[in-house]
Amino acid sequence: MKILVPVKRVVDYNVKVRVKADGSGVDIANVKMSMNPFDEIAVEEAVRLKEAGVATEVVAVSCGVTACQETLRAAMAIGADRGILVETDVELQPLAVAKLLKAVCDKEQPDLVIAGKQAIDDDANQTGQMLSALMGWPQATFASKVALADGKAQVTREIDGGLETLSVKLPAVVTTDLRLNEPRYATLPNIMKAKKKPLDTVKPADLGVDVAPRLTTLKVSEPPKRSAGERVADVAQLVDKLKNVAKVI
Ligand code: AMP
Repeated sequence: MKILVPVKRVVDYNVKVRVKADGSGVDIANVKMSMNPFDEIAVEEAVRLKEAGVATEVVAVSCGVTACQETLRAAMAIGADRGILVETDVELQPLAVAKLLKAVCDKEQPDLVIAGKQAIDDDANQTGQMLSALMGWPQATFASKVALADGKAQVTREIDGGLETLSVKLPAVVTTDLRLNEPRYATLPNIMKAKKKPLDTVKPADLGVDVAPRLTTLKVSEPPKRSAGERVADVAQLVDKLKNVAKVI
């Protein structure tokens, strides 16, 4: 069983992003970049399935600039067997990524794709779903537990007010939620080993995919500044402020 894991290079979750002065987007110059956290969870899950003897190969795929190689090496340090970089300088939107991943799936024929539920930069939550539609494969999103048996994936999903368990036929697309697992730290020996694992590079044109953006960003703005809090002397003053200043009671 082959598992394909799409991994996106995003601004590290610890970085406080700054909006560009012209409001056209977020400034990523000289900013720390890392693997999208949900994708780390996806790699961890695939590697655990391999360690459990359920999967035989884990292939990480990243679409974007040359530096996405680092993201692929990070996936290989967790335990992915090889990496595929779909290299382009074009800013990729979810539909373009889903089409690229479809082309990779057509070639690689994985039994399962485990993607992140969303990328923390665009917060789109679209790519896995679009890929499933393009492939005509079932999807089970927001997985908090995955079990594979008899050509099926049993996936527990976190939904409002509880858990839902689905059974989907493989090949399928599963997307990860935060509580699926806790990704391991890559050890130094594994980081070194990852440097020697195979990494293939292809271009969108080699895959016959047009990645031109379909959406235009009109404006990006900072959230409104919060005013400083105020210390009150006692409960009576608190109630007074809530009633007459904040007007919430
Ligand atoms: P999104 O739909 O942008 O929120 O992304 C959802 C998931 O799709 C991510 O967690 C990744 O697994 C995958 N993905 C999105 N963009 C890329 C990319 N450029 N390269 C590889 N995987 C991606």
